[in-house]
Amino acid sequence: MRDPTLCVTPGDGATAPFESLAVPVQRASTIVFPTVAAYQGRREAIYDGYSYGLYGTPTSRELETRLARLEGAERTLALPSGFSAIALTTLAAAAPGQEVLFPDTIYDTVRPFADRFLAGLGIGSRYYDPMLGAALAGELADETALVWVESPGSMTMEVQDVPAIATAAHARGAKVAADNTWATSLRFKPLAHGVDFSVCALSKYVAGHSDVMMGSVSVADVDLYRRLKDHSRFLGLGVSADEASLVLRGLETLAVRMDRAAASAERLAAWAAGQPGVAEVRFPAIASNPGHAVFKRDFSGGAGLFSVFLEDWTRPVLAEAIESLKLFPIGASWGGTRSLVAVLDGPPLRTVAPLSHRGPVVRFSIGLEDPEDLQADLAAAFARLAAARPRTAERRA
Ligand SMILES: *Cc1c(COP(=O)(O)O)cnc(C)c1O
Repeated sequence: MRDPTLCVTPGDGATAPFESLAVPVQRASTIVFPTVAAYQGRREAIYDGYSYGLYGTPTSRELETRLARLEGAERTLALPSGFSAIALTTLAAAAPGQEVLFPDTIYDTVRPFADRFLAGLGIGSRYYDPMLGAALAGELADETALVWVESPGSMTMEVQDVPAIATAAHARGAKVAADNTWATSLRFKPLAHGVDFSVCALSKYVAGHSDVMMGSVSVADVDLYRRLKDHSRFLGLGVSADEASLVLRGLETLAVRMDRAAASAERLAAWAAGQPGVAEVRFPAIASNPGHAVFKRDFSGGAGLFSVFLEDWTRPVLAEAIESLKLFPIGASWGGTRSLVAVLDGPPLRTVAPLSHRGPVVRFSIGLEDPEDLQADLAAAFARLAAARPRTAERRA
């Protein structure tokens, strides 16, 4: 063989056996087949075998298998982002002429997706009070194909009675999907609580290092999995082996990272409740949080994300206090090693279950730093707020 041919032709490789503890990264677009018949039967291999890089590699299948085990699922499908998992699940479960119900506390990108994208396909959407529980029955219609839950809710942390909602939805023939990103399958098992589609933004805790985007949807039913996989093929969605390997690496330390973040968050949330300017702290593990009893019943532990509702007088000095934090960069996607802070520009949008709180809302994602250091940093910021507290607020307090 001449040099150009040698450049592209496989060698014999090393002959000694090789076994690493790490899952190998096996990249592919093309996958080759030993026979013409195997090539011609490749379409069936998209579900559980290998036919083309877009539909799965040994690396992505290993990730899906490990996630399915944790979810108590028959199959898990890895997708390019948490949002693509939400979109795909919705499109696979609802047809034109049908409608989807979302809790009022749903992840915010869902609203424009429903209003501008689903509506264009003839799929309706409505919002419901996340605290309805079994009373969701009164919201369901014959056209309701899918009910989403997100527990705890985005920014405001209401914990939903998922089993009661699932029972009500199933009684009317609707399916149930859960956005389980806050809890991950380590803290809450959606499929064991009546949910049909368990969705997680792996970009957050599971990948865990703020450097990769991925999402997953897990189901207990192989037919649902095949339907999701067909839809992912029609939309051209898949994940790379490199990124799957990063998520696998994150998964190996997920349990210890969650334990650490949750313990620090529990301590800091309780402490923050007594700080100047704080009207309320929202964190499922705190007794005053909406749905705390359900949290204790259904979840095996907490996570590192909590929100602080601030009194209105903090508004003029809030940005300065937040920007003075040394250990909390300002940012949205959470669940990494470093703590983060996000400040809402207004009260979170609620269209059916209005929030009585009108002041600023600040969300903290607690990372792996020492909690003493985090508390000292936050204490300095609260002192800045307190120093700017107007006399009128002092008299009222
Ligand atoms: C981040 C997030 C998503 C979207 O996940 P991406 O991977 O960023 O697309 C969905 N739901 C919740 C609750 C999230 O926090």
